[in-house]
Amino acid sequence: MKKIIIAIDGHSSCGKSTLAKSLAKELDYIYVDTGAMYRAVTLYFIQNKIDLSDLIQVEESLKHINIRFQKSGELTHTFLNDKDVEFEIREMSVSNKVSEVAEISVVRKVLVREQQEMGIDKGLVMDGRDIGTVVFPDAELKIFLTASIAVRTRRRFEELNQKGVIVNYKVVENNLNHRDHIDSTRSDSPLKQADDALLIDNSEMDKEKQLEMVKNLALAKILAKRR
Ligand code: C5P
Repeated sequence: MKKIIIAIDGHSSCGKSTLAKSLAKELDYIYVDTGAMYRAVTLYFIQNKIDLSDLIQVEESLKHINIRFQKSGELTHTFLNDKDVEFEIREMSVSNKVSEVAEISVVRKVLVREQQEMGIDKGLVMDGRDIGTVVFPDAELKIFLTASIAVRTRRRFEELNQKGVIVNYKVVENNLNHRDHIDSTRSDSPLKQADDALLIDNSEMDKEKQLEMVKNLALAKILAKRR
């Protein structure tokens, strides 16, 4: 069976990872969370007090960063220089800084190259902000996800609460708005829907229905490849 690349982009906290992960499982594809890569770089910069305005320092420090993913049961954990940072990279200290880091072209250049290498053999579901536009402009299936800010804030707030992170609802809402603004307005690889991406607003849609719909689209693309 021929394999394809599936790109899932969209706004912060609209369920990209949940959809991408479930879809990869159904298709027996590799799942890559590119947001986790930007978060891991951000954590490294925070821990090592890297000055984001000093591009020479930023570029040099990127040479000391190794990011890999490792499956642990149903979960995929992110490792930064061989340390499991899966929980640390989701903390608000990282969320508050990640979009500033993701604006830096040299950071994007390094991570995009790594992401493209992961797709050499296809059979990949990748989620992020620029997957359908920059990382894999030829991806066979492109989805652009969105949902209302109220729905996204509630989902993110509940997710953080479940993880035991005590956080104010308004702080979560502000962070999502702030990140979406920086992500959509930056000059390098801004968050935007690719011309050939399918837009899905899942504010009112349940996860199972969404997965079924996207899985059927993926299967149609896979079948078309055989012809
Ligand atoms: O997906 P997640 O919300 O974890 O991503 C965190 C941040 O990483 C985003 O707000 C964005 O600034 C950055 N990002 C990016 N390009 C990607 C994935 C994430 O700029 N492909």
